[in-house]
Amino acid sequence: MSPRFRDQSSPMLAAQIERGALLILPVGTTEEHGPHLPVDTDARIAEACATALAQELAKETPVLVMDAIRYGYSMALMKRWPGTIVVRTRTFMDYVFDVCGSVLEMGFTKLALLDCHGHHSGLLNTVGRELCDAFDTAVAIISPAKLSAEAFNDVRRSGQGGAIHGGEWETSLVLHLSPEVVDMSAAVAEPMRYASDFVAGDNFLGSQRVTWSTWYLQQSESGIYGDPTVARAETGEAIMRAVVGEGGRFLREFVTAGGA
Ligand SMILES: [Zn+2]
Repeated sequence: MSPRFRDQSSPMLAAQIERGALLILPVGTTEEHGPHLPVDTDARIAEACATALAQELAKETPVLVMDAIRYGYSMALMKRWPGTIVVRTRTFMDYVFDVCGSVLEMGFTKLALLDCHGHHSGLLNTVGRELCDAFDTAVAIISPAKLSAEAFNDVRRSGQGGAIHGGEWETSLVLHLSPEVVDMSAAVAEPMRYASDFVAGDNFLGSQRVTWSTWYLQQSESGIYGDPTVARAETGEAIMRAVVGEGGRFLREFVTAGGA
């Protein structure tokens, strides 16, 4: 049986609701990722992670993957390079709320959003809480970057600031998932400069004691904020293994919580 929500008929979905199926909604965006990666990098990674998690869990629990949200919010700075589509924050939040609200109203009770774009984290956290309020339920948000942080740090070759945007983490994953869309000859290193101990200098290092959006303090030439030149498919494979392992561990707890 297909794990995709869109492949089901209405009666098949009714049966999945009856069985208490888990829904995973991948959330990416369309945005420039430097000269070496496709503009769908975030959505591509989000879909791949959601599909891999569904495969991992399918033997034990009914699970469906929804079509990814492919357009979202990026800071205006990213529009300097062609390929960035920006949906205003409130429009994006309302849209995600309505998509999620529809499946919760339909009768699904286990919904996990899978967030693959840094500029969405605060917005999705707020939408998640609003959904909990509106539907008296417990929505989860999982982030492949956070789930894989430890495993990535064990194998990474870039320093702090090397994995923010179009850097080692994303490039390694796309090299693993679909090397045919990566042009490593165009990859250049432009690490994020302001990566102090106070801030999560990239998604994986730093203490996160403060929130400091440093994008406007640095003019990137390439549209990269990181170091993709040290990326490897093997690193991408290690990241994916961690996402499936840690994400799967969490989702098992999520589907059984509340006695469902
Ligand atoms: Zn990205």
